[in-house]
Amino acid sequence: MSDTKQSILVVEDETTLRETLAYNLKREGYEITATGDGGEALELAREHEFDLIVLDVMLPTLDGLSIVRILRKEQRTPIILLTARSGEVDRIMGLETGADDYVVKPFSLGELLARVRAVLRRATPEATTRLEAGDLSLDLIGRKAYRGEQEMRLSHKEFDLLAALIRNAGTALSRERLLQQVWGYDYPGDTRTVDVHIRWLREKIEEDAAEPKRIVTVRGVGYRFEE
Ligand code: CA
Repeated sequence: MSDTKQSILVVEDETTLRETLAYNLKREGYEITATGDGGEALELAREHEFDLIVLDVMLPTLDGLSIVRILRKEQRTPIILLTARSGEVDRIMGLETGADDYVVKPFSLGELLARVRAVLRRATPEATTRLEAGDLSLDLIGRKAYRGEQEMRLSHKEFDLLAALIRNAGTALSRERLLQQVWGYDYPGDTRTVDVHIRWLREKIEEDAAEPKRIVTVRGVGYRFEE
């Protein structure tokens, strides 16, 4: 594989969709490997270091959620799940599968490409030294947070939480996922920890913490940062 191209493994058993995805991702400049079989996908993921895996949930021989569970014990390659039924979404959000994002079928190519770009961007956070959203800016090296010119006093976790929210601006994040991203996979606490820190953050960055416009609550899911 070339040094500059990012590589994506596309796992989808519907031939037309697989070929469409492969074709369009190639056109976007990605190196594509594609398969329609779950077992083969696992072998490929173990043999190669992909930058991203786009993974259908319902697959022959080994389903997508099982593949995520197995891979998460072995590697940190980002994974975007393709899910057919909206009923599966609740399971995916609730079960802490370890996937980085998901797209519900039928989806537009533009939507998928945006998710692919966003996940790949997040996967290389060391390239980012500064995050900005409206009048908020975070200096990730010095760990300083500003609102306009004014430096804000944020605790360690408030800083990490705000950074996670801004990095995923526009995307609904579950409490479980925020807990994993900010507190780590092994943190024994529960999701109320997230709610408490969100409340503290809102008091610092919202005009009116009672009517938040930046960190909005997504009912049944968690929170979304609005730029
Ligand atoms: Ca399928």
